[in-house]
Amino acid sequence: MVGTKFNLGGEEMSVEDNEDNIKICKQYCGDCPSYPQGTDEWLFCAKGKCSKSIERQGCICPGCDVYEKYDLSTTYYCDVGAEE
Ligand code: SF4
Ligand code: SF4
Repeated sequence: MVGTKFNLGGEEMSVEDNEDNIKICKQYCGDCPSYPQGTDEWLFCAKGKCSKSIERQGCICPGCDVYEKYDLSTTYYCDVGAEE
């Protein structure tokens, strides 16, 4: 299953791969110093890591609305892939 699983009130949910979440991701990953320029890949927290190698220069995922909504807990999804 693609996506990040977590428990909310006993129910397991994944980050949904939809237009709204992609739009939010673009505001954060798109502004991130670690984002590989020229890449049009988004929502690493749901879809897994980037096809390009990442030079870590900070991760702003924790400020993202998707991060809060799905109660995510780690960083650098572009590098490590979706949360297990
Ligand atoms: S948590 Fe990170 S990868 Fe996921 S939508 Fe937000 S900025 Fe993008
Ligand atoms: S997942 Fe984190 S480190 Fe990677 S581009 Fe998005 S905000 Fe930056």
